[in-house]
This record gives sequence, structure tokens and C-alpha cells, in this order.
Amino acid sequence: MRPASRSGPCAAALVLVACASLCTGLTCVCQLCEKTNFTCETEGACWASVMLTNGRQEVIKACVSLPQLKAQIFCHSSKNITKTECCYTDFCNNITINLSTGQDTSSKSKLRPVELTVVITVPICILSVALMVTLYTYQGNHCRFRKKRRPNIEEPLSECSLVNPGKTLKDLIFDMTTSGSGSGLPLLVQRTIARTIVLQEIVGKGRFGEVWRGKWCGEDVAVKIFSSRDERSWFREAEIYQTIMLRHENILGFIAADNKDNGTWTQLWLVSEYYEHGSLFDYLNSNTVTANGMIKLIFSIASGVAHLHMEIVGTQGKPAISHRDLKSKNILVKRNETCAIADLGLAVKHDSLLNTIDIPQNPRVGTKRYMAPEILDDTMNINIFESFKRADIYSLGLVYWEISRRCSVGGNVEEYQLPYYNAVPSDPSIEDMRKVVCEQKLRPNIPNQWQSCEALRVMGRIMRECWYANGAARLTALRIKKTISQLCVQQDSKA
Ligand code: ADP
Ligand code: MG
Repeated sequence: MRPASRSGPCAAALVLVACASLCTGLTCVCQLCEKTNFTCETEGACWASVMLTNGRQEVIKACVSLPQLKAQIFCHSSKNITKTECCYTDFCNNITINLSTGQDTSSKSKLRPVELTVVITVPICILSVALMVTLYTYQGNHCRFRKKRRPNIEEPLSECSLVNPGKTLKDLIFDMTTSGSGSGLPLLVQRTIARTIVLQEIVGKGRFGEVWRGKWCGEDVAVKIFSSRDERSWFREAEIYQTIMLRHENILGFIAADNKDNGTWTQLWLVSEYYEHGSLFDYLNSNTVTANGMIKLIFSIASGVAHLHMEIVGTQGKPAISHRDLKSKNILVKRNETCAIADLGLAVKHDSLLNTIDIPQNPRVGTKRYMAPEILDDTMNINIFESFKRADIYSLGLVYWEISRRCSVGGNVEEYQLPYYNAVPSDPSIEDMRKVVCEQKLRPNIPNQWQSCEALRVMGRIMRECWYANGAARLTALRIKKTISQLCVQQDSKA
């Protein structure tokens, strides 16, 4: 059946037929759903899309499990470089779709187009009118209600801003990843989202370019824009975020990656959830925290790092990942004042079966100020994946120190400072850091007054155990998480 996007009485009848099937749920073709025999089930629509990528037509078929009007974004598009169709009967997306000739139902018929139209249209119209009368009599009211809720596939993309935001991007990602590959949105959906974002303002700058706040259907999103010469970094970061089972409330919520060739250069975008507090560095510069606030921040960071570091075994498992650039500028603060680990561009994955790391190693890639002693003096054993995790823990201890200094106890609080602010220049070299951290064995100061507050006393102990020169002696992220969770319980019982 053709999608119900044609006008006229036949189309009206088809809409009703479609509506009847919508009421019971749909089965569609889904290329990514290996586990479910390449089919998916949805209350929404079957979806088929084609997009021109590097001169090739890429086709994807899936379910759009959006009972909301937002589905219109995915159901309506027909431009030179992309074409999308939604339909509402079982397996109706099992079609050949291409950009040049439009939709082709794969018919082997030798009939001429006019004959074909008559042969198809007349019986369908007769059937449809009969069905329409029956349905109108028995189900008319019910279906009219459902029809109102179904995406209007004729509406232009610009209607996006009028959409009632009943469902968020988070819901969309949840819907599509549970019916799809499990590691992120299908590529063409990512592109469709990226290409309907309106950039608003720059919110940050880092190693690779600018981070913008953008709007997608009324929702804020963050867009990290890489320059074309950093294509490998863009690709790598997108790849890491789409690692199976990586999603976690304390890891930046990845939404989409897009490489858009505008004829002169390639724009490389990474789209993610937007956090209005910005980085932990920004947050600590302008805010102090209570003991409870500190515990919340610290616990959420430990949870994010523990999830990254953990290997989950199984077909839907996740490899252990080391971040390699943990610092307050790469951690974001969410609206509820918990954190999300961001900037996974330097992360490495461990293949535990082969005991290998997924990219060639240059251990000295992070931020010098936060580098572990074994990286600074080049003694780290890069053949053991644990070494990378241990180096992360050293950096994590420095981040904890930055937070703890901003914890206000009895009205006392220290100003925000970067680790080793009093020992090295503002843009320290590896040699500057090596002298201080490896030779002089200096570590950030743990003030005496921290002893007067239980939470800060525990934090001081955790930091010391993150900073051992011997990486093997350091705490693990899981251990830290457990210690802090006990602190949470104690604080709760005091409150
Ligand atoms: P780079 O790889 O260039 O260092 P980051 O991902 O670390 O880029 O981002 C740079 C800065 O942009 C962060 O320190 C933060 O201030 C801001 N930023 C990044 N992502 C977001 C986001 N999702 N929401 C709000 N601000 C962000
Ligand atoms: Mg960064």
C-alpha cells in the first residue's frame, strides 16, 4: 500500500484503513533489528528513508515509535538529498525507495503506467469505499480520535517549532534505541535531527572548536562543531558515544553525529543533550556547595567513571573504557546538580578477549596538569588496560579536590583554583608537571579545617588514595562510589 500522503477520497479511505491497523500496533521491516529477525513492532509508523551520502544512496528501514506529532519530522521529507516515507500497515516499508524515481513498489508488472493506475486504483477505491462505510459506522468516532493524534505527514518541517513537546528527545532516543540497534539512533534519523537544528549561541570552546546551544523542536541541544581537519576526532568521539550500552545518566547524552558537505567544506557536528550549568569548572567558579551538594556531585562523577571503566560481558555487553582526559572542563553539571562525563574524544576501549586497545597508543594525550605521574615520567605500562583506568583515577582525585575546596563548612570556603595552581605556570609543560609531581612528589594541599567535617574528612582520604605514585595502589571508581554512597547514607540520617 502507498503511504497515505495522496489527496482525494481514496486517500481518505486509506487513512481510515490505516487507522484501523494503527489501533492494534504494526510490524515493520527493520534492517538493524537482527535479534528480532529484522522486524520491529510499533504503535507509530513503519519508516523507509533514503539519503544521498558521498554520492551513494543510503536506505534505512525501521519503526518510528512516536505516537506524537514529532514523528512528522521523520515522516515528511522529499528533497534532492533525502526522501522519507511513513506508512501504517504491516510491512508496508518493505519497498524500494530511491531519490531519482521516487518510490517503486518493486512490481514486476509489464503494464503501462496508465493501465497500472486503473488496475490498482479502481478495485482499491471500491474496496475502500465499502470499508469506509463499514468503519465509519462502527469505528468512526474512535478512529477520528486516533487520526487526530497521528502525525500529519503533509505538514512542512517548519511546523516543528509548533509541536507540543509532550515527548522529549530523550524519549525519542529511548523509543528508537529499544526497537533498533541498542547503541543509538539510526544514522538517517541522526542526520534528520542535525539538519533541523537552529544554532543559537556559543557556549564553550575546547580543543576541537566550538560548542553551541541549538534548538530542535523547541528543545535545547548542544552542538559541538569540529573543523574539517579534525574529522578523525569527530569520527572517534561519535564512535565512542555509540558504544553499545554506554548510555548512563552520568555520561553526556549523545543524540546525533552529522557530516554535512556544503560544497566548500565539510561541517562536522556532534549533537548532545544541553546542560545549562555548563562545565563543572564554570560551575565551581561561580558557585559554592554545601556538604550534601558536594556529595551529590562527587557521587555522580564516580558513577559515571565507574560505568565507563566497567566491562559488561555478553552480546549486548560493553567494553571497559578509559576516558584519558578527565578534568573539570570535561565534566558537565546537569540541572539537578549532578554531573555527566563529557568529551570522550580521547577515550580508549579495551577488547578483553584479545587483551588489546582499539586504537594505536600515544599515552601523553590528555591535559598535562591532570596527567598521572606515570604518564609524566613515561613509565606507564600501556600493555595493561588497568594502567589507563588508574591514570583516570589520579585525575579524578584532582577533580574531587577542586570540588571539595568549594564546600562551605561553618562559613569557610576557599576560592576556586585549578590543581597545582601554586606550583606550576598557567599553561604548564610536561617537564613543569614532571618536576612537581614525580620529582618533588607534591600533591594538592588538603587543608586542616577539612578534619572538622565528616564529608570533607572522607574526601581528603579518598583523594590521597587516588594520588599514590604507584597506580596499582589507587582506589577503583567502584570502590570510591561505594565509599561515597555510605557517606550519602550517613548524611541522610543526620538530616
Ligand atoms: P573539546 O573536545 O573541544 O574540549 P568539550 O566537549 O570538552 O570540547 O566542550 C568544551 C566546552 O563546551 C565544555 O567545557 C563546556 O563548557 C561546553 N559544553 C560542552 N558540551 C556541553 C553541553 N552538552 N552542554 C553545555 N555546555 C557544554
Ligand atoms: Mg574538552
